[in-house]
Amino acid sequence: MSLLLTEEQKDLISMIKEFGQNEILPVAAEYDRNGEMPIELYKKAFDMGLHMIDIPEEYGGGGLDAVTAVILQEELSKFDAGFGVGVFSSGLAVKPVLIAGTDEQKKYFADAICEGKFSAFALTEPDAGSDVAATKTKAEKDGDKYIINGRKCFITSGGIADIYVVFASTDRTKGVKGLTAFIVDRNTSGISVGKEEDKMGIRLSNTADVVFEDVRVPAKNMLGKEGDGFKIAMMTLDMSRPSCAAAAVGLSQAALDYSVEYAKQRKTFGKPIAMKQAIQFKLAEMKMQIETARIYTRHAASMIDAKVPYSSEAAIAKCYAGDVAVKVTQEAVQIFGGYGYSREYPVEKLYRDAKIFQIFEGTNEVQKIVIAGNLLR
Ligand SMILES: Cc1cc2nc3c(=O)[nH]c(=O)nc-3n(C[C@H](O)[C@H](O)[C@H](O)COP(=O)(O)OP(=O)(O)OC[C@H]3O[C@@H](n4cnc5c(N)ncnc54)[C@H](O)[C@@H]3O)c2cc1C
Repeated sequence: MSLLLTEEQKDLISMIKEFGQNEILPVAAEYDRNGEMPIELYKKAFDMGLHMIDIPEEYGGGGLDAVTAVILQEELSKFDAGFGVGVFSSGLAVKPVLIAGTDEQKKYFADAICEGKFSAFALTEPDAGSDVAATKTKAEKDGDKYIINGRKCFITSGGIADIYVVFASTDRTKGVKGLTAFIVDRNTSGISVGKEEDKMGIRLSNTADVVFEDVRVPAKNMLGKEGDGFKIAMMTLDMSRPSCAAAAVGLSQAALDYSVEYAKQRKTFGKPIAMKQAIQFKLAEMKMQIETARIYTRHAASMIDAKVPYSSEAAIAKCYAGDVAVKVTQEAVQIFGGYGYSREYPVEKLYRDAKIFQIFEGTNEVQKIVIAGNLLR
């Protein structure tokens, strides 16, 4: 795996860089303070097709390979990781459909995304995060429909999505083997948005509870067959973890860039702090960690492209890049000293944004369970 870019990748990066500098950076701090989702900004990103880059061309998407997709995710997340997560969350929601859907389901879901609709992947519940087997949301068959009842929480874009993939139990006695996935339209009667999270970081993304009360979903909206849900959810998360890792790498790179710039201009004892070896070593460590996370993330993505098993590599990339993001942003705050702790400077936000990368899409402890499981199998 090389970090050298193709001409097409360079052009796409330039496009995102221009968008990030002109449109995201000027407003990110304000939206972060208010905890608001910048809908108009999302629409602009959607108009550029950023939310559908890895949907196959035959379904109207950009058809980019996984390596290029993570390169672009990294670039967008340099400007705001929450925005990057929000834009690419439709990538997470469409994956179960691409993995297990019929041609008709794929067309239906991809059309909605390509039209600029928001979508969401609804797996987590108040009592079922890492422990998916504890899912309480149930789907009961009633003729040619399933009736869904339950509450999902912490759903990215949950409050604004037009279409969901919802995981519900069709047989509680079977644990994860009783889970089933459904495509659910937001305008189906019985769906409401519950609490919207007031988050520590990635505040430009929407995270909300979604409540299902006697929601009647056509049986033809089921992905695969009854009981396939857990397998579909795990395959989806495997596939999306390199993307999550790439966002963590982008955010880390932003922290390093700010740190280098600051270290060169901040003087103590008559000299820039960049002249102190203690600061140089911090910068060098940050650089080493980021480059390692970056190359491994692209390696994991290249395995998706190569269609070889990549569950372990995806988990390593996500876990390592998430840890790097927390370490690197913490060091950035340290390099900025007191100013690093101030909201007037950019790095405290990066530190807050970084933490989520050790938590969502499977906590880093769960990634280690996946990695060890693959080792010991
Ligand atoms: C901002 C945000 C966005 C999110 N977006 C989505 C989304 O779009 N869709 C969605 O479905 N979910 C989403 N989530 C949910 C997220 O994936 C879960 O929060 C996460 O999987 C952890 O579940 P939990 O919060 O229930 O923690 P728990 O599972 O309760 O874990 C608590 C702690 O115990 C540890 N732990 C648990 N089990 C084990 C074990 N067996 N061994 C070792 N340690 C263990 C965990 O690692 C963690 O440190 C989001 C969460 C957040 C905060």
